[in-house]
Amino acid sequence: MPLMSREVAISLRSLRKEFKTAARTVVAVDSVDLDVYNGEFITLLGPSGSGKTTVLRMIAGFELPTSGSIVLDGQDVSDKPPFDRDVNTVFQDYAIFPHMSVLENVEYGLRVKKVPAVERRNRAREALANVALADFGDRKPSQLSGGQRQRVALARALVNRPKVLLLDEPLGALDLKLREQMQIELKELQREVGITFVFVTHDQEEALTMSDRIAVFNNGAIEQLGTAREIYEHPATEFVAGFVGVANLIRGESAQALTGQSRTVSIRPEMISLGETGDRRAQGHVREVIYVGNATRIIVELAVGGQLIASQPHDGRSTPHVHTGDPVTLSWSAAHEYVIG
Ligand code: ADP
Ligand code: MG
Repeated sequence: MPLMSREVAISLRSLRKEFKTAARTVVAVDSVDLDVYNGEFITLLGPSGSGKTTVLRMIAGFELPTSGSIVLDGQDVSDKPPFDRDVNTVFQDYAIFPHMSVLENVEYGLRVKKVPAVERRNRAREALANVALADFGDRKPSQLSGGQRQRVALARALVNRPKVLLLDEPLGALDLKLREQMQIELKELQREVGITFVFVTHDQEEALTMSDRIAVFNNGAIEQLGTAREIYEHPATEFVAGFVGVANLIRGESAQALTGQSRTVSIRPEMISLGETGDRRAQGHVREVIYVGNATRIIVELAVGGQLIASQPHDGRSTPHVHTGDPVTLSWSAAHEYVIG
């Protein structure tokens, strides 16, 4: 989706966070620079421990940066408390009050802010309608499914009409089917309400599905920032190539021999075929044939050294008949090579 506008909602500059423990100092976040645009769905993607949650907590104000700055909507909030920031957070372990009805749960934040009763009720109903729970206001949380409880948590944040919503692995507790369904719903909801979403996940498919842009985190720093397509098709580093999609790298002398490149080359498995169809060729032996449902993955030991994975889709054409140990020729187009670093 094209970005709604180029107005900056969140600006992070040289953001750094150290945690001092008795034994040592952990640098959780290191020199993070990031501009998030108004109305954007941006995802912080990275493995566990890469600093995603810490960045989110600093934006929310639950954690103060060791150095660097956070500007929200043009205002430097670096040392402001959470309640002075126009952001709301949705966590994975959504804190819903079990003794209150769904509607009371959603109203709760407004009650604390002393919003008059009628307005409170109307806004809570609207927020419940936003998450497709209009008819569930009278239920107790225990009478809802996991996915519905997650939507209540979302409605509790939306009812405050924040400019920015921070979501820390909000779908992490759901099973795969429900999770995939919620990914689409959440994306649609975001488009509908037009709130800027900063979404955290370690799941690359989730990030690719939902985001306008993705910031890939590694060791507390952003390794690459771009659209799903940019990140998938043009990974900037070996880490990104491996973390987003299947790593398929040719290095050193093998890269030189096969592609004429002195640097590491990445080729996505689905761009490599068996046989002599492309302008690049590589000989090798099949090491492993793996059936993955919608495709077969063939891992090939290359004669020049190294290995490549070819992914052959099951698209109605004949499926590949190769076995471990078979000699094969792989081919691809030079246009699908991507030089890394
Ligand atoms: P992620 O959300 O990507 O899994 P985190 O931001 O939670 O990563 O953590 C980044 C790093 O900072 C990790 O090494 C983690 O152990 C460390 N860390 C996070 N919070 C604290 C804390 N309160 N005290 C000490 N270390 C912390
Ligand atoms: Mg985390």
